[in-house]
Amino acid sequence: MKHSSQFKISKTIYCLPHVQEKKHCDVFNAMIDLTVRLRITWTSRHRPDEDKLCSLRGSDETRCGTGFIRFVCSSVCDELCPCVQCDGKIRNSFLKFTVQTAQHVVYNTEEARAAMVDLFYDDDSCRWDGIMKTVIGLEVVKSKPDRDFSYMLCVTHDKALSERIQSAWRCWWCQWFSFNTTYKFLF
Ligand SMILES: [Zn+2]
Repeated sequence: MKHSSQFKISKTIYCLPHVQEKKHCDVFNAMIDLTVRLRITWTSRHRPDEDKLCSLRGSDETRCGTGFIRFVCSSVCDELCPCVQCDGKIRNSFLKFTVQTAQHVVYNTEEARAAMVDLFYDDDSCRWDGIMKTVIGLEVVKSKPDRDFSYMLCVTHDKALSERIQSAWRCWWCQWFSFNTTYKFLF
């Protein structure tokens, strides 16, 4: 999958003929900020034989997928941090958020811990100019094999990143329902 073409949409939003109201442009931009690229560097040996990627079990070949930041804590936590660096032993300020993806992309917590979540990715130039931010997944907190989705918990200590995620999520959450009615032809 060529993610450079899949993600590079931020510059074209204002060209869409139906997106004329500023609040709707804001929601589109919030959705862009909340859409993430996933790079998973491990495929679990626990995937069953009927799994689409069972042939990759035990492989460290990097796979890519897409996710959406579905839930964001309304406030920053100040407690023992569960991230890899703090390992639940260091009190720190961090934001919790949950990325929804397909279960065939992130099967379980083992794979979540090998998942790099790239935010604000448009193309490879974002990797070098500092626009793209990457956080590591922590655990799968919910999954439904029959509906092929999983929710992966992530945290970040980055204050600016936390504020941008919270802002985008508030914008999307507050206006989604009216937006969805107006633009139902798109979904
Ligand atoms: Zn931490």
